[in-house]
Amino acid sequence: MSSSKKRGNIYLSGAGPSAWHEEYPVAKGKRQSPVDINTNKTKFDPKLAADPLTIRFSDSCCQSIVNTGISFQVTSNGAGCELSGGPLDSTYQFAQFHAHWGAYLKTTGSEHTVDGVSYPAELHLVHWNTKYDDFKDAVDKPDGLAVIAVFFKRGKEHPGFGKIQDLFSKIPAKGAKVNIDFEFNPGLLMPPDSENYWTYLGSLTTPPLYESVTWIVMKEPLEVSVEQIAILRTLLWETPNGVSQMYNNFRPPVPLRDRVIRASFGGRSAAGAMMVAVPAWAWGAVVVGLGAVTYTLSNMSL
Ligand SMILES: [Zn+2]
Repeated sequence: MSSSKKRGNIYLSGAGPSAWHEEYPVAKGKRQSPVDINTNKTKFDPKLAADPLTIRFSDSCCQSIVNTGISFQVTSNGAGCELSGGPLDSTYQFAQFHAHWGAYLKTTGSEHTVDGVSYPAELHLVHWNTKYDDFKDAVDKPDGLAVIAVFFKRGKEHPGFGKIQDLFSKIPAKGAKVNIDFEFNPGLLMPPDSENYWTYLGSLTTPPLYESVTWIVMKEPLEVSVEQIAILRTLLWETPNGVSQMYNNFRPPVPLRDRVIRASFGGRSAAGAMMVAVPAWAWGAVVVGLGAVTYTLSNMSL
């Protein structure tokens, strides 16, 4: 996840992420992110299937897009966009999404890795716990944030993400911002099998690295085209040697320590027969079987 930072480029200044602990000792803390997801050690949790994750997005919550200097960020007014169930004890409101990605022709770029393997990019949809006053109040609390992570893999062009990337030419440099004056449903950025996810307690992946995030990492990546990965790098950022293309804006995995990563799938009772390969978001509101996700979307726009 991203947070803006005043001094220099956090990825390129000094030794980059490996030196963040000098200013932010929590960088070496017990619940830092991202981590490698070792699928031999994840644990199926039937409770995640019994109380399905409910992801609710609307067409009108996305207000603007800004170049934060370390990513693009689409900011939401939260209207009608909420996350609950699964590993969460209360309702979380959608605040923003942004991404992390790698360099040209590299296979790295994602923050989380799966069995040591990176994806070329990773999207973060950030939500805050509504038991707190607002995002700022929630951001440093142990249960303050919930972030959905979606890996990008190379494949077919994704028209929904393309609508967001069409705005990139208007936000080339740090601080540039434009309003989103069309309907855009962030549910379009959910992978087809979004009832299958891993979850663990972690942190922001950028300074100040608060240990406040319940991570929900989607198992199934989202297909985007090679060109769409390349378009991420058309954004610009400031480097010690001047302005250049933005890439490698990710923190590599840090130790999991004694945490257990739980899986919503893989048990004999859950996934298997009940897993329905249906684009749940195609309906206005639908609940799909055990271990599945409820989507409530109004007026899909694609
Ligand atoms: Zn992020």
